[in-house]
Amino acid sequence: MREASWDEWLDVLDDVLESDGNTSGTACPRCGAARLRIAYVGDVDEWIASTSFWCESCLTGISLSTGRPPAGAEIIPGDRPHAELLALVPDFHIIWPA
Ligand SMILES: [Zn+2]
Repeated sequence: MREASWDEWLDVLDDVLESDGNTSGTACPRCGAARLRIAYVGDVDEWIASTSFWCESCLTGISLSTGRPPAGAEIIPGDRPHAELLALVPDFHIIWPA
């Protein structure tokens, strides 16, 4: 399986964000499965969160540091117990910028 670069992941994430976070039908840049997920973990009141974007099939993706999620996004409170967070955002392999 060819490893997708950070830039390729970011391109796909941009596409997903342009369609209001809808990942259905978008192929994973690494394995091709249409099983991409996006999650925001952070502070609902401050409306800041880190972005996790991953593929549920090959458990690979990217993580963006703290920023402002789009309006209407669901922010998962970052102070939830680790086990609860893991159930929502799995421990996927993160690709970093080269
Ligand atoms: Zn994949």
